[in-house]
Amino acid sequence: MSNDKPKGKLAIYWAASCGGCEISILAIDEKILDVAAAFDIVMFPCGADGKVRDIERMADGSIDLCLFNGGIRTSEQEYMAQLMRRKSKVLVAFGSCACDGCIPGLANMNDRKQVFDTVYKEGSSTTPVNPQDVRPQAETNVPEGTLHLPIFYDTLKTLDQTVEVDYYLPGCPPEAENIWKALVAVLEGKLPPKGSVIGVNTTVCDECKRKRGEKKIKKFYRTWQIIPDEETCLLEQGLLCCGIATRAGCGALCPKVNSPCIGCHGANDGVTDFGARLMSGIASVIDSNDPDEIDRIISEGIPDPVGTLYRFTLAKSQLRRKKKVASG
Ligand code: SF4
Ligand code: SF4
Repeated sequence: MSNDKPKGKLAIYWAASCGGCEISILAIDEKILDVAAAFDIVMFPCGADGKVRDIERMADGSIDLCLFNGGIRTSEQEYMAQLMRRKSKVLVAFGSCACDGCIPGLANMNDRKQVFDTVYKEGSSTTPVNPQDVRPQAETNVPEGTLHLPIFYDTLKTLDQTVEVDYYLPGCPPEAENIWKALVAVLEGKLPPKGSVIGVNTTVCDECKRKRGEKKIKKFYRTWQIIPDEETCLLEQGLLCCGIATRAGCGALCPKVNSPCIGCHGANDGVTDFGARLMSGIASVIDSNDPDEIDRIISEGIPDPVGTLYRFTLAKSQLRRKKKVASG
């Protein structure tokens, strides 16, 4: 990469996520020095100081690239998504949480009250003592004035359900070499058409080197129930490998270490609902025509259908969240 060009501006922000995507940026190793040479990093809460106030003062569109990781669960995250959108020329949904909702999106199986009950109820694993059942409030009056906390929404949204997104970089977290490719593409002005996923448009199965034959599944196993052989397709051995429905780009990392793909890259191009796609793939390999037997194979082998089929994509799926039952 040439260092003659004037430096660009790079922002990296996190919302509802674990922060692993931000850490994965450091996995590009010594190339991080090239990033520092090519960009002024104006925001990177995980790795460097940066104030929202300073971003607010910048001209609109003055940040060349924003890698935005995390889903949108609170009013503060929503504000930051809108702010970074306004200030950035290129906004990338960076990692599975921003692209698809990922693990935080599984809380869409509950509403805010159920989430707060799980976290704050006295006796819960996170709050052993809370005799007055104190819960977070958006506003609290104290003698010195009013304290504010972000509003916690009922439903987690993906970044593109909140603001317009230019590109998607999937993965939990994205692989370092794909992050590097995205940075180079921005620097060299060689970005794909707007709205594209930066990476590969095949499935993990296409990258996987395991031997494949006819798949006839009579029983699914949990990963701890069998030690699979290291050469044959894991799905053929009864492990629910999501490689058949998952976008490639990781080099089939998990099957390489004898573990099934769990779908962290989300759906491939043209698929609107990852879980539905995976389910149809699974249905096609079950070796039975008897509805009762099929029910038994699925219910015994996939005891947590949402957590298995929509582990990374519930918020982005056609379902988006569990239907709310009207009270009263
Ligand atoms: S189903 Fe899994 S193990 Fe089998 S070929 Fe696809 S990625 Fe490889
Ligand atoms: S094999 Fe699947 S779960 Fe593992 S890193 Fe690749 S896409 Fe993610």
